[in-house]
Amino acid sequence: MTSTLLHHIGELVTNDPARDGLLGIVEDAALVIEGGTVAWVGPAADAPEADEAYDAGGRAVLPGFVDSHSHLVFAGDRAGEFAARMAGESYAAGGIRTTVAATREATDEQLTSHVARLVQEMNRQGTTTLEIKSGYGLTTRDEARSLAIARQFTDETTFLGAHVVPEGSDPAAYVELVTGPMLEAAVPHARWIDAFCERGAFDGDQARAVLEAGRAVGLQGRLHANQLGPGPGVRLAAELGLLAVDHCTYLDDVDVDALRDSGTIATLLPGVEFSTRQPYPDARRLLDAGVRVALATDCNPGSCFTSSIPLCIALAVREMGMTPAEAVHAVTQRGADALGRDDVGALAPGRRADLVLLDAPTHVHLAYRPGVPLVSGVWQAGRPT
Ligand SMILES: [Zn+2]
Repeated sequence: MTSTLLHHIGELVTNDPARDGLLGIVEDAALVIEGGTVAWVGPAADAPEADEAYDAGGRAVLPGFVDSHSHLVFAGDRAGEFAARMAGESYAAGGIRTTVAATREATDEQLTSHVARLVQEMNRQGTTTLEIKSGYGLTTRDEARSLAIARQFTDETTFLGAHVVPEGSDPAAYVELVTGPMLEAAVPHARWIDAFCERGAFDGDQARAVLEAGRAVGLQGRLHANQLGPGPGVRLAAELGLLAVDHCTYLDDVDVDALRDSGTIATLLPGVEFSTRQPYPDARRLLDAGVRVALATDCNPGSCFTSSIPLCIALAVREMGMTPAEAVHAVTQRGADALGRDDVGALAPGRRADLVLLDAPTHVHLAYRPGVPLVSGVWQAGRPT
């Protein structure tokens, strides 16, 4: 087995709790990779011999980013809707129906090549693990094929038939479909099940029915909740013991306590608030209360068409009260936690050698130099992509 030494690392973010600080930083570091996995981490001066060596040139090296929330299977775009919103119109969940119509009309090949382009775009910005949801098909056939397409790119696929009630459908009958034949068709291609628990989409009882039906056939739950206003979603997620509940913008103290007590991760999606001119979720309040916080893009054609984790880091630091270290932790270790993954999200022996090289001396530059393309290299399983 070939071993690779990555040396001359100015700052190495390990996320190893056995090391100092939240990020377990090692300065003047080196890392040895064997068989796609991290074999050794430590000060460069102590590095063992390896078959081949790669000079990081003093750059900062971080674990590859884990984007635990995206909606990449769709056709068409909604630039016009975005422009209208920026001209003063407000965002409503109903815009999803525009994308549904375009997605149903698209061929498998069109959808697949579109996802491929977006995954490549994410990868260039440092994302090495991602979750992809369905939710723009909303028929049994279109949800199943959306998930089958997503599965070509990641194992972290999420059935989101309960994204919105399609035009002309009766809500109760649609929930029956989602929890019945549509779920059955989705299961072979999905690991997770999700619902959009929001006024204008699905209420708490409907979301519960969807998540429980998924659990009964082996899918793990996640939930969109409390994005556009207060609601029952966050408490439902905590009660069901979900790994993560996403958005969490409008929370009362009971919601925050429920998240802390359940250990359910609050995944914040600041690109959405940026793109819809809504108030940001209060990450500081959650962290100070002892809630585990992840960050993800929510990349989708309506409310947030960014694929950039570095943008999310900058927004979380500038607008949501996170420190640069907390924001980096939230897109690496916490992103992995939000997907129940213990093989990614950190650079410690035994983890997959997924990493990001920054054209910068420290991770702080991701927030300090917003909008600058600092990611100069991305490795997946020990190899440059
Ligand atoms: Zn979403």
